[in-house]
Amino acid sequence: MTTRRLYYDDAFEREFAARVLSCEVLPPDINSGITTPVWRVVLDRTAFYPTSGGQPHDTGKLGDANVLDVREEGDEIIHVADRRPESPDVNGCINWPRRFDHMQQHTGQHLLSAMFQERFGLPTVSFHLGEEICTIDLRGPEPSEEFLEGAERASNQVIFEDRPVNVHYGTADQLSELGVRKEVDREGILRAIEIESADLQPCGGTHVKSTGQIGLILVRRCSKVRQDWRVEFICGGRAERIARRDFQRLRETAEKLGCSFDETVSAATRALAERDANFKNFRAMLERLAKAEAALALQNVPGGPQGLRIVSYVFADIPAEYLGFFASEIAKSERTVALLALSDGGHLLLAQHPSSGKDMNALLKTIFEKFGGKGGGARDFARGRVNDPSQGANALTFAKELLLAG
Ligand SMILES: [Zn+2]
Repeated sequence: MTTRRLYYDDAFEREFAARVLSCEVLPPDINSGITTPVWRVVLDRTAFYPTSGGQPHDTGKLGDANVLDVREEGDEIIHVADRRPESPDVNGCINWPRRFDHMQQHTGQHLLSAMFQERFGLPTVSFHLGEEICTIDLRGPEPSEEFLEGAERASNQVIFEDRPVNVHYGTADQLSELGVRKEVDREGILRAIEIESADLQPCGGTHVKSTGQIGLILVRRCSKVRQDWRVEFICGGRAERIARRDFQRLRETAEKLGCSFDETVSAATRALAERDANFKNFRAMLERLAKAEAALALQNVPGGPQGLRIVSYVFADIPAEYLGFFASEIAKSERTVALLALSDGGHLLLAQHPSSGKDMNALLKTIFEKFGGKGGGARDFARGRVNDPSQGANALTFAKELLLAG
């Protein structure tokens, strides 16, 4: 049986009386996240909007029962409630803040889509009203920053003019005579929504009464999704909340940077440039320190069998790249091998002067067979990490014994 949709004629009706036509219990459905039984209630009339056309369903009350979901099944509207309505005659009440937010976003979408189409020739192919952000997908060439700003400004101009939002009924032919842009293939009497002198399109959704109630439209990011361009936007109360949040973030950023709002970009650019310069200096100092320490280490290392000198060190509290600087310095001396470890991360680095005649890669593999770890390299230079960082020193002792034995 057809449910009479009260929101078609008055989207501002928040409370209504209706008769229960059917009420069936539905078992829990884990897939839908429903863990207790719910009731499927059909009324003769309703102000509850079911999920459709990109707009989410209403929530609210039917007597004492909470309405959790509202769906459209043919001409019937199904209310999913958490308990059975207490009598055949019920009073319904919809969650107004949620509905009004949806009406602001949805009407704003009509307007924004119309401006993208009219000013920039970009048709909307889909609409999504999300919990936080709304999106439309535009088809055509990539909308430039100028297009996005232009559509936003044109939409807000129509909002400031507070034009009426009218509802029209008629057949597909009658609506097309009125200037409905979209092709309609449905039979019978259709509903169309007009934003005066801006837009006219078929729609069964809920809308505000005049464009002033949209409040404001803010267009945000645009990104490519498959073949289309997804434009994020928010209207009304959401625009207010998000603008306030953006401002707070900007204020916190300015406080951190110790500058005024207007200077945040230049202050951040300067801070990043300083960071990069400091990093460069730090690396250069690290290299110089490695050179000096390596020279000192070489002085103190005696020659072993066949004149092979082994410099073995376990480092701590230093960046891993220090091992590389240190090792390259050591490996410049003939018949010298560097066996290095970093105690914090279990890094190992083995390097030699080619004249030493050993194989660092093979040595590293032998270490990993005994201690476990990952890595690799070439004959003169190999690096990796032992699984247990506390084993770094033992791994070096083991490697040194192997070198002296072979
Ligand atoms: Zn609509």
